[in-house]
Amino acid sequence: MYDPLHDKSPGCFQPYPNSYWAETSGTAPSDDGPITQDITVDVAIIGAGYTGLSCALHLAREHGIKAHVLEANQTAWGCSGRNAGFILKSSGRKSFTTMQKQWGEEVMRGIYNEMASGVSTVNSLIAEGIDCDPQALGYIKVAHKANKFNDLVTLAKLQQKMFNYDVQILSREQLHQEYMADKNAFGAIRYQDGFGLNPLKLAWGYQTFARNAGVQIHTGSPVEHWLTQSGSNKTRPSAQHRLVTPNGIVTADKVVIATNGYTPKGFHPLITNKTLPVLSQIIVTEPLSDEQIAASNFLTNNVVMDTRELKYYYRKLPDNRILFGGRGAITGKSAEDPYYANRLLSVLKTSFPALQAVNIAYAWSGWICMALDDLPHIYQNQQNNVFYSMGYCGSGVSFSVQAGKRLAEKVAGKTVPDLPLYNKALPTFPFAPLRRVGQWGFFHYGKIKDQWF
Ligand SMILES: Cc1cc2nc3c(=O)[nH]c(=O)nc-3n(C[C@H](O)[C@H](O)[C@H](O)COP(=O)(O)OP(=O)(O)OC[C@H]3O[C@@H](n4cnc5c(N)ncnc54)[C@H](O)[C@@H]3O)c2cc1C
Repeated sequence: MYDPLHDKSPGCFQPYPNSYWAETSGTAPSDDGPITQDITVDVAIIGAGYTGLSCALHLAREHGIKAHVLEANQTAWGCSGRNAGFILKSSGRKSFTTMQKQWGEEVMRGIYNEMASGVSTVNSLIAEGIDCDPQALGYIKVAHKANKFNDLVTLAKLQQKMFNYDVQILSREQLHQEYMADKNAFGAIRYQDGFGLNPLKLAWGYQTFARNAGVQIHTGSPVEHWLTQSGSNKTRPSAQHRLVTPNGIVTADKVVIATNGYTPKGFHPLITNKTLPVLSQIIVTEPLSDEQIAASNFLTNNVVMDTRELKYYYRKLPDNRILFGGRGAITGKSAEDPYYANRLLSVLKTSFPALQAVNIAYAWSGWICMALDDLPHIYQNQQNNVFYSMGYCGSGVSFSVQAGKRLAEKVAGKTVPDLPLYNKALPTFPFAPLRRVGQWGFFHYGKIKDQWF
């Protein structure tokens, strides 16, 4: 599998992975095909995931700028077509209490409002007519240990007080009787506004809206070299960037990097050593029988995540399969080792012993994008008009759309809220060549913490 820490390109026109989404979502809407000749554009966006598509859509609709999106493979070939489809009012891994301590009440609330706007923006785009199978509202955060339930109750009370957030507290018995009998769950809190959907269909919907607004989306167009020149072009004095794709060079005034966890090695100095791509693994089971559902009391379609450091997440899909996810391999070379999928299946079976006979129908993984400070950053290099948004830390289905909208404002020269999300660059990883060693150490620390504390 493509490994962003080792490979210089994610490939060209690679097919979607063999995922449940790719197999069951029907045919992709049409796009504009590969770049086949040299072109000159105002704005080029690299990467056709949610970030790139949202940026292009908002540039066209709100600022009258028709961007060209360059995608190495297929639309949403990266995380956007492979994720679990949880729409949550969050991104990154930084807690609101940490933000409050670090930056104060006002900034913390500003960030919360941006995360909430991400969910509203997704909802309003779906309401315009994206057929992406949204499920019943509800996000359940389960305590994987009795002491973690106390922490969840404290968190719920804090969020009720700070944001007037509608958070319900569920004892182990209530959870088991009203939602699902997860044997590894010691109680939970439940947010009323999270939900699950089909992430690939969501991205395809954004693509259709963007093209209808005049955006061009070029699949099979990996940017293989990036040459920066000072404004010497006579017809377009400010044109600076030459993006070399296999069959044509795109010359652009402004370039948006929307490649997140799939950013190739050494792609651009602005983002070198600023992120850590980490594999998240998903399995989807065969459809459960009525007996299996009854024996597990699996009543809910709400999205579920636990309190572990190394989190597990799951949901019951519309056709009664279980999607179950957690950490994957460390390197791309071992990503397809069946050990990782089988490990998830065995954890699923400890949660629901009635599912002993269930098999894996689909298994795949994808690169989430970790930031050193656990926060996504949407940033602009003032000197040469390069913009980026990345570092969602595995939680970007809703926020990347808000990030794309803010990126569009930056590209259009508008003012964005003065928040660390938007006014600070991604911090650089110290000892960057050793990031994978650090990750290995973190996995061991997480394992011990989750088991013993
Ligand atoms: C297994 C898994 C489960 C997840 N589950 C959830 C979830 O339930 N909820 C949630 O909120 N978040 C989840 N996430 C995270 C979420 O999917 C991402 O935060 C989000 O999709 C990021 O979107 P993006 O557009 O920034 O990046 P991506 O969707 O990764 O898009 C980047 C694109 O850039 C392209 N690219 C890279 N290099 C080049 C180049 N040189 N030239 C041209 N194109 C290039 C790639 O091909 C890719 O298509 C999950 C992620 C994974 C992997």
